[in-house]
Amino acid sequence: MVERTEYRIEGATGDWEVVMGLEVHAQVSTAAKLFSGAPTAFGADPNTNVSLVDAAMPGMLPVINRSCVEQAVKTGIGLNAEINLWSRFDRKNYFYPDLPQGYQISQYQFPVVGEGQISVEAEEGYTFVVGIERLHLEQDAGKSIHDLDPNATYVDLNRSGVALMEIVSRPDIRSPAEAAAYVKKLRSILIALGTCDGDMEKGNLRADVNVSVRRPGDELGTRCEIKNVNSFRFIQQAAEYEARRQIEILEGGGKIDQETRLFNATTGETRSMRSKEDAHDYRYFPDPDLLPLEIDAALIDRIRADMPELPDEKRQRFIDSYGLTPYDAGVLASDADKAAYFEAVAEGRDAKLAANWVTQELLGYLNKQDIALADSPISAERLGGLIALIADETISGKIAKQVFAKMIDSDDTAAQIVEREGLKQVTDTGAIAGIIDKVLAENPDQVAQVQAQRAEGHAKPKALGWFVGQIMRASGGKANPQAVNEILAEKLGL
Ligand code: MN
Repeated sequence: MVERTEYRIEGATGDWEVVMGLEVHAQVSTAAKLFSGAPTAFGADPNTNVSLVDAAMPGMLPVINRSCVEQAVKTGIGLNAEINLWSRFDRKNYFYPDLPQGYQISQYQFPVVGEGQISVEAEEGYTFVVGIERLHLEQDAGKSIHDLDPNATYVDLNRSGVALMEIVSRPDIRSPAEAAAYVKKLRSILIALGTCDGDMEKGNLRADVNVSVRRPGDELGTRCEIKNVNSFRFIQQAAEYEARRQIEILEGGGKIDQETRLFNATTGETRSMRSKEDAHDYRYFPDPDLLPLEIDAALIDRIRADMPELPDEKRQRFIDSYGLTPYDAGVLASDADKAAYFEAVAEGRDAKLAANWVTQELLGYLNKQDIALADSPISAERLGGLIALIADETISGKIAKQVFAKMIDSDDTAAQIVEREGLKQVTDTGAIAGIIDKVLAENPDQVAQVQAQRAEGHAKPKALGWFVGQIMRASGGKANPQAVNEILAEKLGL
């Protein structure tokens, strides 16, 4: 077991610890909005996916979308959280041009999902647990567009009323890297559940990052919240910048003002947006247009019985049934596409070999070229064919790498390439013996050296390895290495 890394920032006056908690807004995957029948499709013309409810026309009444509630329950189960059979919608009042109602319908005191927890794998190899405080349903706002006209702001209400799950973590995160790892894990769970598509570029998953610093072991410090950070890298950058900013203030004798800040991806800095509001600033009160949300226990049972396999379960299955190392299993199970690709390669074949080739050769190549797995030039079927040739010793692992390189630029199967290029491993002992005889005859000095070393009592004379290299080269890399070793030892009288 790898110990959790103690992340510390060295200040002018000593070490500081970073404490973080995240509020993640995840757009619920549903066809219609939270309280109206308008579609949620992305990329429609401005103000075309807007019902009278979303535009807050007078007299309109919200009607809850059952499928949004089911998705929230499913997510709650996936986060090992308590599902509240009774919850309530409140109005969160504030003014903004892209919020036509003048309030957001959200959940405050009584969220639909209560406490839960997830375990997160850090890049360093350790696992840590992050508590989930709550998950509540709420409406998204519209969008203000400031760059279409120098003198005017446009408002697009397509996003107005789209359902969001706000997932609030406990302040259990202790470094910027852990924050990114947490969102990665959360995202993989949501995608596996099918409750959010996790598309961060479209803003369908975005994080409010709460950061405070303290002397190791001290009470919690005052936190600042960085709004709407929408990439793993930005989450890490924003947190790092913010922690150092706070340390500088504290070491200069100042104090931290609780505030909401914005991250500028271009400069990598955060800047103040507004002083942090408290709950009472929003004048929360129960929405009189909506009855409390009461969930039937049978609905929860039905959803629980129909849960898909989650990343943690998949990882365990990869360890148990394929014999993968926890690390390889984690890499492959963390992403639905990678997991499906691996399973297609491993099906009916040597699974450990399949895992090695997928994680090292294939993903290594794709990462280097910045190609998505979905666009891989080598399909799972073709990579499986290559692995079959290694497993039945038609080719060596070394030759397989050459074949792999050729497969990238061709549609041929591994077997076709091996056949065409004459790369089949030579297992014919007569042929190998012939090559060995030739190499030995050309290098009498080295033969003498091996025998001298042997006479001095070396069990494995160094020069032996040199011979193996020469023989493999003379065979074009095709000689079966095991046969080479055996026949060579025999010929040298070892
Ligand atoms: Mn929110």
